[in-house]
Amino acid sequence: MSKVLSHSQRPRWRSLALLTLLLAPLLWPLQHLAERYYSDELIQQNSQTLDLYVANLLGTLRRYEVLPQILGDLPALRSALLQPDDPATLNAANRLLKRVRGQTGADVIYLMDNRGKTLGASNWDHEDSFVGRNFAFRPYFREAIAGRLGRFFGLGTTSGKRGYYFAAAVRDGEQVLGALVVKVDLDHTENLWGHTPEQLRVTDANGVVILTSRPEWRFRATRPLDERERNEVAANQPYPTLAPKALELDDKAWLIQSRELEETGWTVSILAPTSLIERPVRNVVAIGGAALLVLVLLVGLLMQRRRHYLERIALDARARRELEIRVLERTRDLEALNSRLKQEVLEREQAQQELVRAQDELVQAGKLSALGTMSASISHELNQPLAAIRSYAENAGVLLDHGRTDDARGNLRLISELTERMASIIAHLRAFARRDRHAPESIALQPALEDALALLAKRRRALDVELIRDIPDATLWVQAGETRLRQVLGNLLANALDALAEKAPPRRIWLSVEQNADGIALQLRDNGPGFSTEALQRAREPFFTTKTSAQGLGLGLAICDSLMRAIGGELLLDNHPDGGALLTLRLRAGVPGVNLQPPEDLSA
Ligand code: ADP
Repeated sequence: MSKVLSHSQRPRWRSLALLTLLLAPLLWPLQHLAERYYSDELIQQNSQTLDLYVANLLGTLRRYEVLPQILGDLPALRSALLQPDDPATLNAANRLLKRVRGQTGADVIYLMDNRGKTLGASNWDHEDSFVGRNFAFRPYFREAIAGRLGRFFGLGTTSGKRGYYFAAAVRDGEQVLGALVVKVDLDHTENLWGHTPEQLRVTDANGVVILTSRPEWRFRATRPLDERERNEVAANQPYPTLAPKALELDDKAWLIQSRELEETGWTVSILAPTSLIERPVRNVVAIGGAALLVLVLLVGLLMQRRRHYLERIALDARARRELEIRVLERTRDLEALNSRLKQEVLEREQAQQELVRAQDELVQAGKLSALGTMSASISHELNQPLAAIRSYAENAGVLLDHGRTDDARGNLRLISELTERMASIIAHLRAFARRDRHAPESIALQPALEDALALLAKRRRALDVELIRDIPDATLWVQAGETRLRQVLGNLLANALDALAEKAPPRRIWLSVEQNADGIALQLRDNGPGFSTEALQRAREPFFTTKTSAQGLGLGLAICDSLMRAIGGELLLDNHPDGGALLTLRLRAGVPGVNLQPPEDLSA
């Protein structure tokens, strides 16, 4: 079973791995979407930052843009240009410029004559004072003298600091007297940029980085300069170098957003490292992958559960089928057993019948063999009266010859008596030899006893015999044949009366019953002379008698014994210790019931 399962599990894991492989490409669009989402977010965020920075930068520049023109109208400065040799005037101009610088926050404010020489400056009292220096080479000076607003980015020639220069002409009517220049410090605008992963980059019209949060990018060229630009750089020297090195950036490593500043020709860019979105994208892909894995595992689990469920159903079905088969087999076995039992019962019944028949045969055979032993006595018994009859008949003939009819009649009467006696012998023998047709049945004892007593009542009264009974009122059921039992009882009672007739009164007969596990024992006792020793041994033999031939044939007890054995009972002969015969009939107990059976041998 487990072996089968492990076999069937292998392909399932293989199919799950296949499913994972099939679903894995779904992670690619997920990555793409996440990248789009996070870069959009970053772009939006950085766009705001960039706007802020641009606004700040423009605000800084615009604050100073109009300053040269306004200052140029101041009389004190114009006077200084008109009287360049008057120290007091120059001093006043210097102080004014210094004051204005302090108020506006400009880096340096200075005044040049129309040849480019600095007459006054806000830093007149500094070591690196501009006073006396000539900046005619600067493009802003040329622009201002030409009547336009001069703008210029460059490094201070003395300070080396980056600055943006605004310059305007100082006029006296139509005449241009000189120029006023305001230098704005731009270094601090770089410092506005905090320590963020995003980087700032401001490039000028030449594509050279002038402001940046990354010092190593400073004054690098984002594109190659053409000849005109190179010449201009050589002439104006806006950078610390004449040939700026190229700035090489990996396009893929940076997300760049830019704004053009038209008035300065600058481009302000914010550069965000793409690594900023890589991490959240990686997380999203990892989560997606995990979700996918969980999904696949869930599918696997569901498949496994379904498989288990199906397997269980199949198992149940198989078990049910096996059970049904077993039940069928068992039923078949039982049916076979049943028919075998029926057959056995039938055979037993047949055997029983055979047995009954065999017993019957046996009893009959016994009787016949008894008849065999009797035949000698029978011939003797019959020969005697036959011989007597013959002689009486011969005598009767002689007497008739002599006319003695009365004597002849007397002989004939004797013949008749003898034939009666012979008929009696033969009748007893018939009764003895008759085959019992019925198997023993349940018989009530008391009525049979009453019948036998009634038949002999007359003779008992004549002899004045006292009858002492010790018999329960409740009907006693015994196994016997109705007529056979009466015949036995009648014989025994008749014998008792015969015996009592031989003695003087008082004459008594006791009848008692004993019940035990084996059955019922009926005892019949008289106070006659009892059995002689020989009679006790031989009384059961046919034709044994101690009586005269007129009184007894000697067949009574022989027939009783045979009848008792035929019904499964027993006849016991004994003498009572107080004298007299004691006969015991042992009978098998019968089933209580109503005996509707008619006497079986009416012919007797
Ligand atoms: P029968 O009565 O014709 O002699 P039975 O077979 O009935 O033949 O009896 C055999 C003998 O047993 C009798 O002759 C008698 O000697 C003896 N016998 C039978 N019943 C008694 C009895 N109640 N008391 C004494 N002897 C008896």
